[in-house]
Amino acid sequence: MLLPIDPLADIGRRAWVPCPSCDDARDCVPCGERRHCPDHWRYLISHTGSLLHLQCPGCTHHWDHESGFGATRGPSPGGRA
Ligand SMILES: [Zn+2]
Ligand SMILES: [Zn+2]
Repeated sequence: MLLPIDPLADIGRRAWVPCPSCDDARDCVPCGERRHCPDHWRYLISHTGSLLHLQCPGCTHHWDHESGFGATRGPSPGGRA
């Protein structure tokens, strides 16, 4: 069952994160190289600190993604040599 696209979704605010539901970027070369793929991106609905609230435009799956950017809680993973 598909959810409606969130009314806050804005194509000007996108994030390149693999969708845990449809995994549509699995075999994609640019995505595999973590480039900004023109085909596989997610709506960045909003964010809370470093936690991104995303929606997949393909399968409309809605989920939270911990980006690790700008985090103020916990140790930063692998940030220092
Ligand atoms: Zn999806
Ligand atoms: Zn891709």
